[in-house]
Amino acid sequence: MKVTAAATLGLALAGAAYVSTVGVTVTSHPSAPGDLGAARSSDDLERSIDLPGPVQVETFVGADWEVPRSGLINLEHAEAKRDGLTDGPEPIHIYFHVLRHPTKGTFLVDTGVERALATDPENAAIRGVVAEAMNAEKLHVKNDTRSFVEREGGQIAGVLFTHLHLDHVSGMPDIPKGTPLFTGPGEAAARSGLNLFVRGTTDRALEGHVALSELPFQVDASGRFAGVLDLFGDESVWAIWTPGHTPGSVAYVARTPDGPVLFAGDTCHTSWGWEHGVEPGDFTADQQENAASLRTLRELAERHPKLDVRLGHQELAHTGAPTGVAHR
Ligand SMILES: [Zn+2]
Repeated sequence: MKVTAAATLGLALAGAAYVSTVGVTVTSHPSAPGDLGAARSSDDLERSIDLPGPVQVETFVGADWEVPRSGLINLEHAEAKRDGLTDGPEPIHIYFHVLRHPTKGTFLVDTGVERALATDPENAAIRGVVAEAMNAEKLHVKNDTRSFVEREGGQIAGVLFTHLHLDHVSGMPDIPKGTPLFTGPGEAAARSGLNLFVRGTTDRALEGHVALSELPFQVDASGRFAGVLDLFGDESVWAIWTPGHTPGSVAYVARTPDGPVLFAGDTCHTSWGWEHGVEPGDFTADQQENAASLRTLRELAERHPKLDVRLGHQELAHTGAPTGVAHR
């Protein structure tokens, strides 16, 4: 493992960690206010969240990967010190999640990885120096996105992004052109000097696709979250604005016949981070804001113990094979 490359990854994925008026946006791909979803309150969300719902959910491991723990977990946090966590390579997954709605179609939460990363890396969107910085030699494709799309007959109703970091747009070359794409407010507009490094790659992943449509959040009248949307107007799929990891980070809740599922995105990467309530490290733009968003999601899960929590890059023990965090 190239330590310098891994360190660069931390900087690259952190991107907006150095938000300022200088620098560039994460992508030059167009982004515009959208109209998917009706603004609701978190009281509305929590009234229906535990009722059985109509959405079928499936999570795929697009790839296994390894990145520095200091990016995934704030190792300066007292909890991390108490547990003796140190920096080092941490095994993680790159996921994509499938939401099947009975009338609205099949949506993806994030995009996994494109097939070319395994079969034709020279021509993958993530290639060259960025691939090196992303520690791509440790990235092993398990379920490429093109294979999934082919099984679906190319019918994808939309992509719901948790945020626009490269490891979440990395499946976009395999998504059919014309598929609607949804992001949180301001996600594509935040500026950072480090975006200079990833912007060309992000643009390449999104090339030929429609403009990003920004979810129309309004202030949560119940005061728990930055904003809450009922995406399809039937209370089956919800978006929760969770700024911090990036300005436009979004979590999603889907109501399935077996109970609610939360897709937390990178507001929490790791199982250890969730279990200990510790925000991400270098990969996060605003640690304080990220910590606050993580707290609100954990409180939601405490109030609704049936909530099946799916994190950004690792599985919680009760939802699948634990990956855990190596102690040193
Ligand atoms: Zn990520």
